[in-house]
Amino acid sequence: MAEPFVLGGVEVPPGQRRTVELPVGRRFTGAELVLPVEVVNGRSPGPRLFVCAAVHGDEINGVEIIRRLLRRPLRSLSGTLIAVPIVNIYGFIGLSRYLPDRRDLNRSFPGSERGSLAARLANTFLDEIVGVSTHGIDLHTGAIHRANLPQIRASLEQTDTDRLARAFGAPVILDANLRDGSLRQAVMERGVPMLLYEAGEALRFDEGSIRTGVRGIVGVMRELRMLPPSQRPAQRQRPYVANSSHWVRAPESGILRDRIRLGAAVAKDQVLGIIADPLGSREFDVRASRDGVVIGRTVLPLVNEGDALYHVACFARPVRVADRIGQALEAINPPTDSYEPPS
Ligand SMILES: [Zn+2]
Repeated sequence: MAEPFVLGGVEVPPGQRRTVELPVGRRFTGAELVLPVEVVNGRSPGPRLFVCAAVHGDEINGVEIIRRLLRRPLRSLSGTLIAVPIVNIYGFIGLSRYLPDRRDLNRSFPGSERGSLAARLANTFLDEIVGVSTHGIDLHTGAIHRANLPQIRASLEQTDTDRLARAFGAPVILDANLRDGSLRQAVMERGVPMLLYEAGEALRFDEGSIRTGVRGIVGVMRELRMLPPSQRPAQRQRPYVANSSHWVRAPESGILRDRIRLGAAVAKDQVLGIIADPLGSREFDVRASRDGVVIGRTVLPLVNEGDALYHVACFARPVRVADRIGQALEAINPPTDSYEPPS
């Protein structure tokens, strides 16, 4: 039998779940701000997994991923699931990536008790949530006007993280460097393996990204033996690990017409898009600088010189990777004519 799990002074007995509201401060209206956390404590002991979203307040796919995760039957759970759907509660209210002081929460870790608003929120999250967890998953989307192919970013030199990244089953894994001040860096420094899932676009729901996310978290929980193995083990495709990635930038300012979709393979010097002025009198090709697969892109056609347009990941066999990505997305995306949103 597991022990009761205590968070923010609330005790969650084994086999039960509770909503915990962690106080994070007060708004200038006087209203108190709380972080809503759902704790599901399993009957038997096991890992303690935190899953969080909206560290960037406008990245809302992950909020829906967590809602759907919590609707699943979790009666057979071993260990504890700690779900935090909205970490940057200030940004979420304002539909903004940032905090009201214009700071980026994901550059403010580990934070401090007496620092800026962002530093204090970072500190609270690290102490209260990461401090009681053995594993973590942080859910993100592309920034505003950018879309990402579903992908895992993780430090694969850690064997535990590598195993979990593969169990998540997103089509692509980027062995990504740690960013200074990021949640991932702070969590890794505490020796807690963490995956970062990137999929879709800020302020939008993307059904394929959401489904891939829910399935991925369940896959990780099964790998950690928090959930029993699937009754119908799916024929899962092995994810591809990118060697490196780079951004193709706008050579000139103007209006962009796309020639490439997310997940497609590109060859060096291939035209990815064409930038024109509004009268169409001047046109510039945007060309791939290397072979690869498009894993992120702008969705806003109005571009300034130097803007990051296409995020291209490099693989040994990009055409084969793109084929597999296409199959994976087709399998998980709903057919457009028969789609009914889940409850
Ligand atoms: Zn983000």
